[in-house]
Amino acid sequence: MKPAYNVIIIGTGAAGFSAGIYSRRYLLDTLIIGEEFGGQTSWGGVIENYPGFKSIEGYELMKRMRDQAEALGAEILEDRVIDIKKEGNCFKVLTKSQREFLSDAIILATGSQRRRLNLPKEKELTGKGIHYCVTCDAPLYRGKEIAIVGGGDASVKGAVLAGQYASKIYLITREKEIRAEPINFQKMKELGDKVEILYQTEVKELIGEDRLEKIVLTKPYKGKEELEVSGLFIEIGSIPNTELAKKLGANLDDKGYLQTDNMMRTNIPGLFGAGDVVNIFGRFKQDITAAALGAVASTSAYEYIKGKDKLCTLHAKAVT
Ligand SMILES: Cc1cc2nc3c(=O)[nH]c(=O)nc-3n(C[C@H](O)[C@H](O)[C@H](O)COP(=O)(O)OP(=O)(O)OC[C@H]3O[C@@H](n4cnc5c(N)ncnc54)[C@H](O)[C@@H]3O)c2cc1C
Repeated sequence: MKPAYNVIIIGTGAAGFSAGIYSRRYLLDTLIIGEEFGGQTSWGGVIENYPGFKSIEGYELMKRMRDQAEALGAEILEDRVIDIKKEGNCFKVLTKSQREFLSDAIILATGSQRRRLNLPKEKELTGKGIHYCVTCDAPLYRGKEIAIVGGGDASVKGAVLAGQYASKIYLITREKEIRAEPINFQKMKELGDKVEILYQTEVKELIGEDRLEKIVLTKPYKGKEELEVSGLFIEIGSIPNTELAKKLGANLDDKGYLQTDNMMRTNIPGLFGAGDVVNIFGRFKQDITAAALGAVASTSAYEYIKGKDKLCTLHAKAVT
């Protein structure tokens, strides 16, 4: 690993790898640093809406993106970035393993993390009946009754997947309707009465000592507030990972996403955003949009770097 790069991309999800592919096509010296390989897509299950693949495991799609970025010459490091500072025109990136790198530009493709219900016992029972990843943990519930909280596409996709294992799935949504891709909703409907939707209902309490035994609902189901389930999957969206952006003084929007213009430029010269950490397409956050925004961010990084003499004084290579 070199000490200095034209661009450091933070995040090894769809946005980060796509940014890496484009950065290398612009011949920028590129380092991609990511904590969790493949981001959300690597455990998001089968992907059937990414052009070029009728159906592909998310993990496999990410491997292909990584291989493409690597083949083009991007360097990839598995690590967590804990701090970024801007000194003059130079960004200084510090990782958890205490490695330090310099770069002319930064692309933040840090995605998001799962939203929690924030109920008492939620933390203690995580992994003991409470889960945030249907793809990873649904196989533990073969022949068991489970509940999924959420009313969006991820929860419906989760119900379809969990349908292969669980004997019964309660889909709990506080909304009056489910907002999912129609094709996923149709697949869930094909599971018949294995999936029951509890509309305008929330989980208000978690019961269980060493593992989850019951949940308490805000609206009674069949006359009872308590529902016995072996597992509860929480699919209520995500929170953008913007700690690094905040530390750098980047502007966030009113929902807490990294604010950019439509070329993915932030208020800080040389800092760009891409993927689920920004809110350009609102609720619509997919691999195709993440990859597209990564490509745009790299284009803007290239425009920012090219033609300038020496941005980062310690940088070895001038870009023309
Ligand atoms: C259950 C589920 C199913 C889905 N199904 C589909 C689908 O069928 N089709 C589809 O198109 N989309 C699907 N999506 C959405 C898709 O996965 C996301 O839109 C996509 O992952 C966004 O990519 P990203 O690169 O912006 O962020 P992420 O995938 O969230 O990746 C963020 C990356 O940043 C890294 N990171 C964060 N902070 C740091 C740090 N400080 N230092 C280093 N690295 C850091 C993470 O480790 C990770 O590598 C699904 C999502 C979920 C949750």
